[in-house]
Amino acid sequence: MSTAPTKLTLDEWDARYAELRRSGLLETFYGGPLRRHVLQESDFRLRHLRFDNSAASLRLWNFLLTENERLAQARAQGNKIVGTMKDLGTVPVMAYSLAGVRAFYPDGAWWTPCLMECSDGLLQQAETFGIDASFCPVRAMLSAFLNGEHFPRPDLLICSTGAVCDDFSAIAQRLEKMGFPIVWWEMPRRRDPEPGETACALPGGSKAPQIQVECVREELARLGGMLGELAGQPLDSDTLAEGIRQANDVRRLLAALRLLVYGSPGAPLPALEMLVAEMLAIHFCSDRGEASGVLRALLAEAQERLRRGQCIIPEEAVRVFWVNPVADLRAMNLLEEWGGRICGSDYMFGHALELIPEDLPPLEALARTALADPMVGSTLDRARRIVADCRAYRAEAVVVSRIPGASHCAREGAIIRQLVREELGLPSIELEVPPICDALLPTLSSRVQGLLETARARRS
Ligand code: SF4
Repeated sequence: MSTAPTKLTLDEWDARYAELRRSGLLETFYGGPLRRHVLQESDFRLRHLRFDNSAASLRLWNFLLTENERLAQARAQGNKIVGTMKDLGTVPVMAYSLAGVRAFYPDGAWWTPCLMECSDGLLQQAETFGIDASFCPVRAMLSAFLNGEHFPRPDLLICSTGAVCDDFSAIAQRLEKMGFPIVWWEMPRRRDPEPGETACALPGGSKAPQIQVECVREELARLGGMLGELAGQPLDSDTLAEGIRQANDVRRLLAALRLLVYGSPGAPLPALEMLVAEMLAIHFCSDRGEASGVLRALLAEAQERLRRGQCIIPEEAVRVFWVNPVADLRAMNLLEEWGGRICGSDYMFGHALELIPEDLPPLEALARTALADPMVGSTLDRARRIVADCRAYRAEAVVVSRIPGASHCAREGAIIRQLVREELGLPSIELEVPPICDALLPTLSSRVQGLLETARARRS
């Protein structure tokens, strides 16, 4: 079934799917042709994307695009559904430690307007509830809760507060007022330990005062009690330790995949599929076992392509470090069409990629990992980490992709770019990618191509 790597349109995938089936493709329970997501779920954006042609990537897309369906099945089988908001990678580790509990991020509705090319009307509906375009696309979540069409109503809804952006905080509060009870937990803004204060090392290399770790640990213990009650079994230390081991298995697979794809001279897998793969880290796309299977298949495909010396993105492509997820997935295709490739990323959930320490009491380990969230500390901390990753992955240019309306840090682009310039001398740009970027193509194209040209000129 192995074939030379290439990118296919949705139309071309019809023939590829038929070919894979003829060659005996074994599919998972959520398998099928990609086109059905357009026909059955109106995921119209797929018609404008270019997809990797491997069976492993088909499985990845089918896994991503069937999440709502799979959650509904899980509920029908008696599973409890937890909606966990904003922490991107912490509470799901606890939830999936318990049998019969699934956690998902309603925040994921962020991408629904893109996938459905705004035919869902979620952004417009949010405006009727007073949440207009001055908020980032996460406002789609509010309408999705109210119309009940994009994810099931959770049995328990948990949201972090404190070191959280204004957009999310305002929308979640509005949600609660509209009849969706929320369990809030406090995430303090991470700060450097003061002289004489006990400091705690966090995964990823940062530090926080022990008192902040204790605060988060106590909050997580409170949530653990509630999750245990929901599941009808206590979330004790052994259960959580096993959950952490399983979460780390997923994180290890992802780390191996990122190292291989971002570190290789030519890329064996495209940026778009890698973005989707990275997202599996935050809540395993509602099925931890399958998330491992999906990542394992991608890793095997990438290894096989490299063994055969076949890359989907050639070695000459400019190595770009990308900051923030793009509201329009098409932007990842465009970067490669214009001569770039992703060699490293900070999609705002770096802490979900870090291994959770297994040699500490489990709640302490999880609390430390939660505090390593790049979005709960200063932007300068985040910029330092980006600079270190740019070095490690030999980046030649940096793109800071702004999210329309996002309030998390109005100055992040300037801060990150300045440090990148001072420390590495790399060219960078800041651009904004809306949920559908087609109207901005001329501007995006000239800005990105200008950046790539500058990076290429520096090679000589
Ligand atoms: S994109 Fe930024 S502003 Fe929007 S929810 Fe995420 S952190 Fe908040």
